[in-house]
Amino acid sequence: MSAVIDPFGRAITYLRVSVTDRCDLRCVYCMAEDMNFLPRAEILSLDEIERLACAFVRLGVRKLRITGGEPLVRRNVVSLFQRLGTQLGQGLDELTLTTNGTQLARFADALAAAGVRRVNVSLDTLDAARFARITRWGRIETVFQGLRAARAAGLAVKINTVALRGENEDEISDLLAWCGEQGFDLCLIETMPMGDIDAARVDQYLPLSLVRARLRQRFTLDETDYSTGGPARYFVVRETGRRVGFITPMTHNFCESCNRVRLTVTGTLYLCLGQDDSADLRTVLRRGADDAELEQAVRDAIARKPRGHDFVIDRRRGAPSVSRHMSLTGG
Ligand code: SAM
Ligand code: SF4
Repeated sequence: MSAVIDPFGRAITYLRVSVTDRCDLRCVYCMAEDMNFLPRAEILSLDEIERLACAFVRLGVRKLRITGGEPLVRRNVVSLFQRLGTQLGQGLDELTLTTNGTQLARFADALAAAGVRRVNVSLDTLDAARFARITRWGRIETVFQGLRAARAAGLAVKINTVALRGENEDEISDLLAWCGEQGFDLCLIETMPMGDIDAARVDQYLPLSLVRARLRQRFTLDETDYSTGGPARYFVVRETGRRVGFITPMTHNFCESCNRVRLTVTGTLYLCLGQDDSADLRTVLRRGADDAELEQAVRDAIARKPRGHDFVIDRRRGAPSVSRHMSLTGG
């Protein structure tokens, strides 16, 4: 299947689908404590999500990542994985998810049975008190249980860690060592200015160039051209044999090779994480479009994909660059 090509010659082969804006945690860089969540009528049903995702697969998308909010708090989400899993080998190469891990103990086996092979688990610290502070109320043990279940189910795990100035920066090298012991890859992420969160971004922002220089004092990072199809740049950690990735939207422009678009749970297709350009696919779906009309709406949207984001951490205003929260578009 040949993929849809955007105006800058990029083939769109990767769709991220947010299946809920809700979450059982309130990470300080992601959400405000008292978030207003969407009313049910606004939210796509699992049938609608499946129909849209399958349209993208017919248009050449080879990788689907389910995200949120916390995808595993959506009721019956396993049935969505089961249905999308039938697309594997029929155009789809990979079905995966990003999760905070709190529900993985319950779902790891079912996800593996549905065809999931890899899972990204977000974890910013190994310390219980710090975890509770960053997530505002989470219990780290639930994540550890989830990680054990994922391993037992045969899922490859990558840990996602947001680098937070003055919060976990002293722990990142220990996290890398721990990932090595556990057999996990680690992917470090810079905070991105998305949505109001009751804290000043500039206080949280820690450039990964600095983190990498510090890691090099303890570890040997060997260059590799390994890629998961996402925006991370990877190195092999010689001491552990595992990989470490860096996602640096703020310090390094990662847009040139962007192959992704994002579907929110309201059926809005965002063409860039850092821009407001979007298409309302829910309206197309609910007015009874057939498959050909749906596919055309997707093609028309991709024809408007912008060249790149223009995130800035504004030191004077501290205002977010895009007003929607990461939990809406799913990162
Ligand atoms: N709830 C799931 C989780 O935490 O993995 C999936 C959704 S979460 C929005 C996806 C990823 O975005 C997580 O790894 C999270 O750490 C990251 N994230 C959230 N807000 C962010 C921000 N403002 N800047 C950078 N990364 C962010
Ligand atoms: Fe929830 Fe994930 Fe956002 Fe944390 S990062 S509040 S776990 S959606």
